[in-house]
Amino acid sequence: MRPPGEILIGEREIRDRVASIARELSDALQADLRREGHGVDVPGRVIFIPVLSGAIVFFADLIRQLPVTMSTEMVSVSSYRGATTASLGVSVVGALPDDLAGKHIVIVDDILDTGRTLGLLKKEIGAQKPASLRICVLLRKERDRDVPVEADITGFDIPDVFIVGYGLDYDGHYRNLRDIRLLEEAGDA
Ligand code: 5GP
Ligand code: MG
Repeated sequence: MRPPGEILIGEREIRDRVASIARELSDALQADLRREGHGVDVPGRVIFIPVLSGAIVFFADLIRQLPVTMSTEMVSVSSYRGATTASLGVSVVGALPDDLAGKHIVIVDDILDTGRTLGLLKKEIGAQKPASLRICVLLRKERDRDVPVEADITGFDIPDVFIVGYGLDYDGHYRNLRDIRLLEEAGDA
């Protein structure tokens, strides 16, 4: 098992950025709701959707800082690696929520990497014709995407390295780390 290594983003830096993302998101949602003649306390207009499981820690911290009445729905996406790069794929596990038409939707994920996960979700959820659809990610890897998709709100840009902690796992481990860390290279430890 490769152990976690050097800290890439520390706990305090994460906390500060999550707070500023929350402010940015509430301003945007508040503006949307105001245009409809609503306040932030209107029920039934805003739905937050975390992508399980990596987004859970970020999601839990983020939504508790949002003074906006919302409901939540979960989605899970599995990736499968075929024999060739061309067959790398993702699919939604179980059913997507199907009552998103006309609502303000925020998809929350841990990291934008190849773009396949969020590309798929944006297409499937967008097909339901929500009133607005935003993608919010804590991290974005600096690399070419296999599927072109942009996040509307990004916490941190990071190099193309494998990281763990703050919800992100390696083989199911390390989601509980408070910092975001690199993994030791195999053989380093
Ligand atoms: P994408 O579909 O954009 O390639 O994949 C995104 C998913 O892959 C993320 O939601 C995350 O679960 C996983 N992932 C991508 N890069 C990393 C990484 O550096 N560390 C961990 N732990 N998971 C990653
Ligand atoms: Mg994920």
